[in-house]
Amino acid sequence: MDFYGSLFARVLYPAWESGLRRRPTLRRLRYLEQTQWRPRAELEAIQAGALRRLLAHAYANVPHYQRAFAAAGITPRDIADARDLGKLPILGREVARDTVEDRTARGGAAVEIRKSTSGTMGRPLVFGYERASEYWRTAMKMRGYGWAGYQPGQRALYFWGAGPPAGNTKPTLASRLRALKVKGDRAIRREHYMDCGRRGERELDEVVSAIRREHPEVLVCYSQAVADLARHVVARNLRDWDTIPVICGAERLYPADRVVVEQAFGPAVFETYGCREVMLVATECDAHAGLHMSMETLVVEVVVRETHNGTARPATPGELGEVVITDLTNHAMPFIRYANGDLAVAGDAGACSCGRALPRLASVEGRVAETLIDGTGARVNGLVFNVVIAHIAHAIRQFQVVQHKDRSVTLRVAPTSTFDGSIEATLRATWERYLTGVPVRLEMVDDIAASPSGKRQVVVVER
Ligand SMILES: [Zn+2]
Repeated sequence: MDFYGSLFARVLYPAWESGLRRRPTLRRLRYLEQTQWRPRAELEAIQAGALRRLLAHAYANVPHYQRAFAAAGITPRDIADARDLGKLPILGREVARDTVEDRTARGGAAVEIRKSTSGTMGRPLVFGYERASEYWRTAMKMRGYGWAGYQPGQRALYFWGAGPPAGNTKPTLASRLRALKVKGDRAIRREHYMDCGRRGERELDEVVSAIRREHPEVLVCYSQAVADLARHVVARNLRDWDTIPVICGAERLYPADRVVVEQAFGPAVFETYGCREVMLVATECDAHAGLHMSMETLVVEVVVRETHNGTARPATPGELGEVVITDLTNHAMPFIRYANGDLAVAGDAGACSCGRALPRLASVEGRVAETLIDGTGARVNGLVFNVVIAHIAHAIRQFQVVQHKDRSVTLRVAPTSTFDGSIEATLRATWERYLTGVPVRLEMVDDIAASPSGKRQVVVVER
C-alpha cells in the first residue's frame, strides 16, 4: 500500500467512521475479523444467541410474526438455534412485499433507513432497518472485501451499475449537494466509478485506459460486466498489468466467465453474493472453494420444497435449493426465513482449507439477467432498468423488458397510482442512454404473468 493508502487506512478512515460520524463500524469489523477464525461450535453459539434475541423481540413487537408463531403453535422458546427455524414458515417475496406494515416493529427498534429492491423478480420490495444494522452491514462488507485483499484507502476501480439518470427533471440544490457529497466521499476513499450499463467497444476501451492510468489495486465489478471486459482484453491482447484482484458481485459469475477473467486480471477472482435487503450474504475466500456465509449476522438456509406435500427441508451438500435468509441485525422490520428468490447450491459441510469454519455455499445460481443489444451491437446489462426502478419503486408494481428478434424492445410496466409523467421521463432517459438506436415501446399492463417455472423473468431476449 502506498503512503496515501496507509494514511487513509490508519488515520483518515478511522477518524471519519469512528470520530466524525461516531459510527461503531470499525469496532464491528474488528469483532468480525476475530470471529471468522473461531471454531464452528462457537460460531453457532454466537448465531443462536442473536437468533433467540431476534425471535423474542419479533414475538413481543411484530404483528406479522406474532401471528406466524400462533399459527405454528409455538413460542420463541421452541427455537433454540438455526436448526429449529424450520418450525416457522418461509416468507416469500410476495408476502414480504404485502406485509411491510405488519412486519414493522411496534417497539424495541425503529426503521431509520428505508430502501427498496431493484425488483429482480419484477416487483420491487420496500424495506427498512435501524442504523445499528447498517453498521453491521458495512462491517461485514469490509470483512468480505478484505478477503480479496481490499483495504479502505486502496485505489479501487468500480465497474458497476450507475444510479438513475436525471431524466427531464431539473436538478435541485439538494440533489446537487447529494451528488457532490457522493463524489467527495468516493474521492476520499479513492473509489473510481465507471458505469457498466453499456458495454460497447468504446466503453470497454475507456475502462482499459482507466486501469492503465489509475493502476487500481482492486476491481469491484458486476460479474457479467467484468466478464465482458475480460473478453475484450483477452481478444485484443491488451493486458499489460500484473494480477489485479477482482471482486465480483450483483450477478452470477459462470465458470467460463471466471476462466477469461483470470486470463485478463490474474487468479485473484472473488465472487460475492448479496442482496439489497441484507447486503453481503456470502463471500469467496482465497481458497476459492465456495462462498462463506455471513454467519454472525445472518442465518442462511438453502431449502428444498417437496412438491408432493409442500414441506421444506434443508438441501444436502451439492443440492440446489432456495436461499432463505434470517437477518439477525434487523429488528426494526424483521426478515425471518425470507426467500429472496435466488437459488444456490449447498456447500460442503467440511472445513475450508482457509481455516475459517463459517459454512459455505457451493455456488449461487440466482441473479441471472439476459444481456440486451443496442442499435450498434454493443452489449447492455439487462439490469439497467432494475437499477433505475429501485429509485422509483413506489410507482411501479411490476415490470419486464423484452427484446424482440428485430432488436426492438418492449418495456412492460404495471404502474401504481403514483406513476406519472416524471416517472415516464426517467424510464425514457434510461433507454435513450443505454439502448441507443433501438426503438423502445412502453406498454402499460395490469399484470405480468410468471413463466411456467414460477419465476417472473424481468429480462427476456427473444431468439
Ligand atoms: Zn475458506
